[in-house]
Amino acid sequence: MTTPLPLNSTIGILGGGQLGRMLALAAARLGFKTHIYCPDPLSPAFEVTPHRTVAAYDDEQALLAFASAVDVVTYEFENVPARTAEILAGLKPLRPGAKALAISQDRLQEKSFIGGLGIPVAPHRAIFTEADLAIALGALGTPAILKTTRLGYDGKGQAKVAGLAPAMVAFARLAPHPLVLEAPVPFVREISVVVARGIDGSVAAFDPAENVHRDGILATSSVPAGISAATARAAQQHAATIAAALDYVGVLGIEFFVLGDGSLVVNEIAPRVHNSGHWTEAVCVTDQFEQHIRAIAGWPLGDPRRMADVVMENLIGDDIAAIPGRLGPRIRPHAYGKAESRPGRKMGHLNRVGAPSGKV
Ligand code: AMP
Repeated sequence: MTTPLPLNSTIGILGGGQLGRMLALAAARLGFKTHIYCPDPLSPAFEVTPHRTVAAYDDEQALLAFASAVDVVTYEFENVPARTAEILAGLKPLRPGAKALAISQDRLQEKSFIGGLGIPVAPHRAIFTEADLAIALGALGTPAILKTTRLGYDGKGQAKVAGLAPAMVAFARLAPHPLVLEAPVPFVREISVVVARGIDGSVAAFDPAENVHRDGILATSSVPAGISAATARAAQQHAATIAAALDYVGVLGIEFFVLGDGSLVVNEIAPRVHNSGHWTEAVCVTDQFEQHIRAIAGWPLGDPRRMADVVMENLIGDDIAAIPGRLGPRIRPHAYGKAESRPGRKMGHLNRVGAPSGKV
């Protein structure tokens, strides 16, 4: 059993976006300092802590200095380069660990890992060459979805292909190779589960959220999701199984497709706090940010119980102007402090808090 991190210890966070900022805020409330490492000098997380490193993720000198200034290292994005993770993990505890990063950085590895646990994933094929693509289209049928295995997010790095000719065009455009070809999953809704796993192996899953995307970007997360109690339990159980198999420490986001019969297919996982978990800050006993900090600090996990219904709405681009104009007494705003609003950029979110569930 690892000793719990003492108060006033310093948590190092790789990445200075809104997720790093919200982690730093939660850490401060728990009595920790945070040191943010990010190449972008205008990172929103720099606004909430004075300790920062502005350097590239492959700057070994900067990484060594960062490691010597912190007690534990975590991250707010899954594309931390493997070498960066290796250097830091050799110097300080890296939580979640390198295995979660390696698997979630690669859609093919992720699918075979999750499939290997007996949890369904979309039918898919690895595509190294144009010949692979022709064979895979024959096997999976059209339309299909061609995706990069690495560095895709918010629907980027993928193309829906209706036949061989457009698939070849997409193959030439999408990089890096190999790619993955997926059959379309005939889902009736998309949900996600945010789960936390502590150093002692304890697990706490939040209620599943129902997610609606617009232009490939998460628009809303609503809780409760429109699913049966059995589907909700199965999603939480799958999340716990994946977290345990990764020997995971921290908060993990898992996106699922829900089929017409209520069964589940995992779309992807993210080894970090998740946009579809932002609702937890308004209505849960412990929110995902505090939960992540508690986990990586070796502290006991908090109660993930939800005390009211809620809809989280992302504020994208100029939507941020909704603050303060659209606020009512049960709307909790969160602005990320980004200086410049751009189309498609996540600028903040609103949590619309509904009826209390009465389950306190
Ligand atoms: P991703 O970047 O893989 O999370 O994909 C972004 C969105 O595209 C998902 O949230 C789905 O709405 C849709 N999508 C991706 N893969 C599939 C699939 N195999 N079947 C159906 N829809 C998909």
